[in-house]
Amino acid sequence: MELIPEMNGSNSENTSFNNINTNTTTTTVSAATSSSPSSSATPSRYENQKRRDWNTFGQYLKNHRPPLSLSRCSGAHVLEFLRYLDQFGKTKVHTPICSFYGHPNPPAPCPCPLRQAWGSLDALIGRLRAAFEENGGKPEANPFGARAVRLYLREVRDLQSKARGISYEKKKRKRPPQQQIQALPPPSGAT
Ligand SMILES: [Zn+2]
Repeated sequence: MELIPEMNGSNSENTSFNNINTNTTTTTVSAATSSSPSSSATPSRYENQKRRDWNTFGQYLKNHRPPLSLSRCSGAHVLEFLRYLDQFGKTKVHTPICSFYGHPNPPAPCPCPLRQAWGSLDALIGRLRAAFEENGGKPEANPFGARAVRLYLREVRDLQSKARGISYEKKKRKRPPQQQIQALPPPSGAT
C-alpha cells in the first residue's frame, strides 16, 4: 500500500483517493464504487478539509511519544488527539462556577477555557473516520469509530450544551406543554 505524501500541495490537481489501489488500467467497467455521491466534479471543500485533517493526524502520530503507528492506533489515542486539539479551540466553555454558565451570550468576558466546539470535533471525527478507510484501513479496526470516541463526543456535546446554554438537538424538539408563567425578578433590583 502506498500513502500519498501531501507535502507538495500545489501540483495535486486531481488525486482522487479512489485510485489508490487500482493497479489495472482503468477502463471503468462498472460504477460499483459507491464513493462519489457529489454531482459536481470540483474537489469539494469537504475533501480538502478531510485531507488536511488526515495530514494533521499523521503529523500528530509522527510526533507522538512514544512513537505511534497508525495500525496500533486505538480509540484511546484518538481521544488523546481530541484533547490535544482543545488547546487550539476558540469556543468558550463556561465552568459550572462561572456566573455565565449556561448563558448563550455572556455580556462580559470571563476566564473560562477555550475549547474545540463539539460540532467541530464531531465533523472532524467523521472526516477522519472516512479518511482512515480510504487510506487502506479496515472498517472493523477504525479507531475513529470506536465506542469510546462516540461516548466522548456525546459527553462533550452534553457538557457544552449546558455550559453554553445551547441546544444541539436537531429534530424532535419536544417541549412539555405546560405553560409556566414565571414572574422573573427585575434584573437590577438587588439593592
Ligand atoms: Zn465563563
